[in-house]
Amino acid sequence: MNKKIFLPDDERITRWYNVIPDIPNGLEPPLHPGTGEPLTPEVMAPIFPMGLLEQEMSDQRHIDIPEEIREIWSIWRPSPLVRANFLEEKLGTRAKIFFKYEGVSPSGSHKTNSAVAQAYYNKKEGVKRLATETGAGQWGSALSFAAHKFGLECKVYMVRVSFDQKPYRKSMMNTYGAEIVASPSPDTPTGRAFLEKDPDTPGSLGIAISEALEDATSRDDTRYALGSVLNHVCLHQTVIGLEAKRQLELVGEEADVVIGCCGGGSNFAGLAAPFVPDKLAGKDIRLVGVEPASCPTLTKGVYAYDFGDVSARTPLLYMYTLGHDFIPPGIHAGGLRYHGMSPIISALLREGLIEARAEHQLECFKAGVLFAQCEGIIPAPESCHAVKAAIDEAMRDPKEPKTILFNLSGHGLLDLSSYDKYFSGELHNYEYPEEAVEEAKKSLPKID
Ligand SMILES: *Cc1c(COP(=O)(O)O)cnc(C)c1O
Repeated sequence: MNKKIFLPDDERITRWYNVIPDIPNGLEPPLHPGTGEPLTPEVMAPIFPMGLLEQEMSDQRHIDIPEEIREIWSIWRPSPLVRANFLEEKLGTRAKIFFKYEGVSPSGSHKTNSAVAQAYYNKKEGVKRLATETGAGQWGSALSFAAHKFGLECKVYMVRVSFDQKPYRKSMMNTYGAEIVASPSPDTPTGRAFLEKDPDTPGSLGIAISEALEDATSRDDTRYALGSVLNHVCLHQTVIGLEAKRQLELVGEEADVVIGCCGGGSNFAGLAAPFVPDKLAGKDIRLVGVEPASCPTLTKGVYAYDFGDVSARTPLLYMYTLGHDFIPPGIHAGGLRYHGMSPIISALLREGLIEARAEHQLECFKAGVLFAQCEGIIPAPESCHAVKAAIDEAMRDPKEPKTILFNLSGHGLLDLSSYDKYFSGELHNYEYPEEAVEEAKKSLPKID
């Protein structure tokens, strides 16, 4: 049996797969936050470089990956596909469980894939500085690294709750040469407004996005970078699924179930989108996204146009959302605390091409601990959601032979304090705050 399946060097993935042309009924266009009209690339030019805007709206199925990106990726790509045989034995299941391990990247998660691509297109168009937000710190550290590789400055607005819980993420970003502040910060008008309302606010990804956007649009030399949700980010991540598909092929396997955790949707889209054509062609394969029960965007949200940030500055995206005012509880999978969801993942759910499920954090940590004890790797709290779902799939009928593929989107070595809290009983499950969400839904923008 092959424990680890590597891709030979001459089989490196050279083109991304763009799922958009394969989505039946397509995607609704993003709208201008002021006029409600479909966005043009020109309006977005102060925020993103053209190379990324073209990808955002591309109808090409395959897009070449520039050599400069693949060169930096070669530090950790192709990432290994691993057979979780020790976990299988422990569970006593006949299911084969494979995981694609993205924790081998410099920042420890899949986010570095898109960070390098984004830094590349910014650099190519003469941008000098990037502004961004980070939830749990993975995106901030990924972009700090990528920006440095291309000689760009980088400013990171880090959600307050993570800033306090994850000091080593700060050290990491500092090491890569970035500037970091806790969000809400005194550096932007939105940050100052939130601090005035509540100096102890845990912050949210929505607030941090507002701050980074304000920073980027207030300076000519600066563009904004987003670590998830957008089409171009999902596109960059498809290298994960393309590699995994080929790696399974190399050992004569085909996935029956493909699983990823869902924050903004990028690692799940990256793993699952390359399987959508098979599904459309009639293959019996299930694509399952797993979100936290405390921030249940796909399972409890509404499908509507909404802002991506809390101060209603971003374009309106058509997506599953809990309302842009929704501030999720401070659960330990910080990367999954987002009110919205990638329009691509949202549309795939609408079309019945993917499924969604929600899991509570205690059950996810329990699954993560079991996984760590069997396979050695300590999963990021976000990734524990995928581990939980993979174990459930393997145990639904342990006698049924099937092949499960899940994305181990990152390692948890900088999240050990959350594991400590789990062990000492300090973590709790948060029930879906129905009233808060009902309230936030009222703030959805009205579109005629
Ligand atoms: C950010 C993050 C996620 C969630 O983001 P997606 O865009 O949904 O992938 C999941 N896992 C890890 C390790 C992350 O860093």
